[in-house]
Amino acid sequence: MLEMKNACQRCHRLLPPISHDAFICSYECTWCRDCAREPLERTCPNCGGELHQRPPRGHEPDRDTTALTRDAIVAQLRQGMLRSAT
Ligand SMILES: [Zn+2]
Ligand SMILES: [Zn+2]
Repeated sequence: MLEMKNACQRCHRLLPPISHDAFICSYECTWCRDCAREPLERTCPNCGGELHQRPPRGHEPDRDTTALTRDAIVAQLRQGMLRSAT
């Protein structure tokens, strides 16, 4: 599960999921724009990885759609099993 860190690990500035000012490395160390740009020079001090802007989070994914899709897949699998059984 992808955990969103909501503050800069250097200056502790708040970076909510919708923020456009959050920068992360591939290990999701999180930094604000000001720290990522100047003092860190776009390199993570924890792991040496490149820092990239974290895409601002949109609204919650539609869970109902996901459930429907999964049910549809299960139904198809069941049909396939029935067919192979007969
Ligand atoms: Zn910062
Ligand atoms: Zn890192």
